[in-house]
Amino acid sequence: MSVHAAPAEIASLDTRFADLDLADRLSLAASLGRAVFTTSLGIEDQVITAAIGTHRLPITVSTLETGRLFHETVDLIAETEGRYNISIERFRPQQDAIDAYAARYGLNGFYDSIEARHACCHVRKLIPLAAALSGAEVWITGLRRGQSGNRAATPFVAFDTERNLLKVNPLADWDLETIKAHVDAQAIPVNALHGRGYPSIGCEPCTRAIKPGEPERAGRWWWENDEKRECGLHVPDNTHGTPAARNAAQPGPVSLATENGCR
Ligand code: SF4
Repeated sequence: MSVHAAPAEIASLDTRFADLDLADRLSLAASLGRAVFTTSLGIEDQVITAAIGTHRLPITVSTLETGRLFHETVDLIAETEGRYNISIERFRPQQDAIDAYAARYGLNGFYDSIEARHACCHVRKLIPLAAALSGAEVWITGLRRGQSGNRAATPFVAFDTERNLLKVNPLADWDLETIKAHVDAQAIPVNALHGRGYPSIGCEPCTRAIKPGEPERAGRWWWENDEKRECGLHVPDNTHGTPAARNAAQPGPVSLATENGCR
C-alpha cells in the first residue's frame, strides 16, 4: 500500500486492524512501510514495546528524552532495552533552543501561560518528534480511546496529512483494565509511578498523581483547562499556541511542516 492511501483504503485498512490481535496489528503496520513507534514508557507503550521485542518485529522504537522526565521513566528505558534485547533511540531537545526558551519565559515558564507551555512542548517534544519520524512512513502510537475525551474517536489507522505518513494506533480499542491484565500476564516492566497514582506520565514538572475517580489524564498540565491538555504530538498544529510563541523559543524560524504530531 502506498502511504498516500485514499480514504476508502484507509477505512478498509482500519477494518482489517479491528479483527487482529496486537502482534498481528503491529505486523500489518510494519508491512505498510518504514515503521517507527514512539514510546513515552507509559503502560500502553510498554505493551507495544513488549510485543515488538517479543516478536522481533521490524519496527524502530524511539523515545523523546525531554530533559524533564521522572528518573523512574529514564531508568525504565534501559530496563526495557535489556528485557527485550532491543535498542530504544533517544531524541533530545537542542540546547540552544532550550536556552532561548529559558531566556524568554524562564526555565519553568510553562506554568505562567498556555503560550509558554506550548512553546516548551514545542522545543522539548515536537522538534525531537520530527527528528524521530524523519523518513518514517508509518507512525505507531499507544493512543487509546479511553484515555480522554480528546481521544474518544481514535481510529486504528489514519493518514496524517501534516506529517505525510500513516498513523497507526494498535491499542485504540483496549481499555485500561485489559492493558493491566496483559501487563500482569506477560510480566511486562512498567513505570513504578503507575502504582503511585500516575496513570499517565509525562514530564515531571507537568505531571501529578490523580485522585480516585478522576480521568486518566487529569494529572497532566492540571493547571490548564481540560480541552487544552495535549502537548501537541497528537493534535493539529493550530492548537499549539501562536507562531510567535513558537518562534520565540527557537534559535531560527520554525518550519510548520515539522512540528505537528504526547503522551
Ligand atoms: S510537558 Fe512540561 S516540561 Fe515537558 S515539554 Fe511540555 S511544558 Fe515542557
